[in-house]
Amino acid sequence: MGARDRPSLWRWSAFALTWHASVWFGWSLLLLCVALFNADAVVAMGWPLFMIAALVFIGELRPVVASDSYAQDGVAISSAFVFAALYLWGLAPAVVLQAVAVLVSELIKRKDIWKILFNIGQYALSIGAAWLVLWAAGAATTPFTVRESFAPGDLWWILGSWAAYHLVNLTLVAGTYETDASTFWESFTEDFWYYTFSTVAVLAVSPFVVVMAASAWQLIPLLLIPLVAVYKTAAISRAKERQSLHDALTDLPNRTLLQSRVSESLEEADREGTGIALFILDLDRFKEVNDTLGHPAGDQLLEVVARRLLGAVRPGDTVARLGGDEFAVLLPDVAHPSDAIEVAGRIREALAEPVRLEGVLMDIDVSIGIALAPQHGDDVEMLMRRADVAMYVAKGEQTGIEVYDAARDPNSPTRLGTVTALREALDHDHLELHYQPKVSLLDGTVVGVEALVRWRHPERGLVPPDEFVPLAERTGLVHRLTAHVLQVGLAQTAEWWQRGLHVPVAINVSMRDLQHDHDLTHLVVSELDRHGLPADALVLEVTESVLVQEPGRAVATLRELAALGVASSLDDFGTGYSSLLLLEQLPVAEIKIDRSFVRRLDEEGGDPAMVRSIVGFAHGLGLTVVAEGVESASAWKSLRDMTCDVAQGFRVARPMPAEQATQWLVERVVRGPVERAGLRSVGSVDLVAGT
Ligand code: C2E
Ligand code: MG
Ligand code: MG
Repeated sequence: MGARDRPSLWRWSAFALTWHASVWFGWSLLLLCVALFNADAVVAMGWPLFMIAALVFIGELRPVVASDSYAQDGVAISSAFVFAALYLWGLAPAVVLQAVAVLVSELIKRKDIWKILFNIGQYALSIGAAWLVLWAAGAATTPFTVRESFAPGDLWWILGSWAAYHLVNLTLVAGTYETDASTFWESFTEDFWYYTFSTVAVLAVSPFVVVMAASAWQLIPLLLIPLVAVYKTAAISRAKERQSLHDALTDLPNRTLLQSRVSESLEEADREGTGIALFILDLDRFKEVNDTLGHPAGDQLLEVVARRLLGAVRPGDTVARLGGDEFAVLLPDVAHPSDAIEVAGRIREALAEPVRLEGVLMDIDVSIGIALAPQHGDDVEMLMRRADVAMYVAKGEQTGIEVYDAARDPNSPTRLGTVTALREALDHDHLELHYQPKVSLLDGTVVGVEALVRWRHPERGLVPPDEFVPLAERTGLVHRLTAHVLQVGLAQTAEWWQRGLHVPVAINVSMRDLQHDHDLTHLVVSELDRHGLPADALVLEVTESVLVQEPGRAVATLRELAALGVASSLDDFGTGYSSLLLLEQLPVAEIKIDRSFVRRLDEEGGDPAMVRSIVGFAHGLGLTVVAEGVESASAWKSLRDMTCDVAQGFRVARPMPAEQATQWLVERVVRGPVERAGLRSVGSVDLVAGT
């Protein structure tokens, strides 16, 4: 029954009290009534009794349920006829009639036997309370007082009997049934007005039944019409409520319902000392499905996703659709964060199987952000926002699942300090560029330099880009950052070119720069122009993951730039899972093998096959191959043996501030021929690396 796992003492007493009262007193009263009952009395009541009994049964079987969120048992319209029996024939017939109707209808509905036992007792006691009011008012002197008409003055005890019935009923239910409210008082007051109104609406019919029973009992069923109208109105309002709280396509709870469930779960978790988890899920590449297969296919996909999500969680969990391709999952009882991660893993697994849409097998991938209460917030809005932040991290870094981490939240207070500081750094030119050479593996000539940004922070010293570029990307500051790097890098390059050091500079651009709202092409062209540089003085480095995530627009931008003579390079190649097919379509002139592969060349038993095959197929596509992170002589040698074209790494030179880089270039490029002559005789590795 309603007892919780760990009820408080108070709650337990309320439960015990109401439960025992209903069962013992209620049933005693019922048995007493049965004992008082006799066949003569029944015969005396005649046809109206049968009519009213039939209506009690009908009403009991079809309760008025006005709302999903309120008591699901609803309010039975049978009460109208039970009260008519009470006024007409007294306590005993009313109690017995109600008991039999409850017994039969709940057996039909296969209710728990304990619940039936309780309900029968509960109704007996409530009707008993109503009768006590009648008795106190002198309207009923025995349990069988018969009354066939009313006087205007009777209104008071009629109202009084309703109130007594309602209050006793509510008290017994509040004490016994499990609800989300914790204390008895909260249970009692929860939805109090809803119950009061619907009970009064039903009971108000009872005096009419009494009056009709005396003169034209055959007409009593007419009263079903207003009652059915109440029933229908309630059903409509229930459907409306359902509609307003559910998503039309998938029939999942919508954002509003989710929010109210999260808030309920938060309260409950707070009381019970447990935690909850909120997931926000976003399908990857959903737009592609919509664009290529059409909206009906997109809808179909969403329905499949909804079904699979429901299949992956437990019955008490909530799966909601927030709109578009965004879903949410609420786990109302999470003991440990790892439990939440496990569920998230299960969800991803459930979605992993491809879906057939319009005859095409589509892979669904999803990014899941997890926020936990109380760790990450104790109100709905905060949790939703933080799950959202985590989801974006999961998407951006292609990790699939991320738990919220304040250090990666652009809105968290510690981070905000950094965002403001970064904005100021851009304003006050506290960013500087270091330059790292790229040299030919064939003959050691310098084929370019890569500009790498650093932040000269007043307290923290030189901050590496990994610590602020992702932040800039998430906050939209990256456009300014790129513009700044482009401007400073090209100014430096122009200076080198004027001195006869004709090396192209490579600038790293981010995914955001390649998206439509930002005109990178225009920016590049005007900066080249401003510094009087030709297009081939600049190379743009784009990380591979960017192109996999959002190929359409990025490819178009790169193509525009390539047409203008600005070459692009695919950075960190091998980490972004791009397909060979995609690589063939990309307008890039160069790939840079990620340093994780290059590092493995040096490891014990390191297998060069991977790098060798990357070099092979890239050459097959006519691309130049650069190896990143070349740190050792042996890596240099293996790469040269594999006919890799260019090397970049500490073995050649570390990234250097502008002045030092200039000096390095002057030595290599201006005195290049001498060096290169030496290289050939002594071996390029040593000489290049010996600087
Ligand atoms: P990246 O473009 O792959 O740059 C190469 C990174 O490898 C640089 O790190 C460089 O210092 C490091 N590196 C070079 N040689 C070696 C080596 O032999 N061994 C090892 N272990 N590392 C080596 P850095 O400067 O910290 O830059 C990190 C990343 O930040 C860059 O990776 C790039 O993706 C990004 N980044 C740098 N500057 C910018 C920029 O101006 N704009 C944007 N959007 N991103 C930038
Ligand atoms: Mg780079
Ligand atoms: Mg790289």
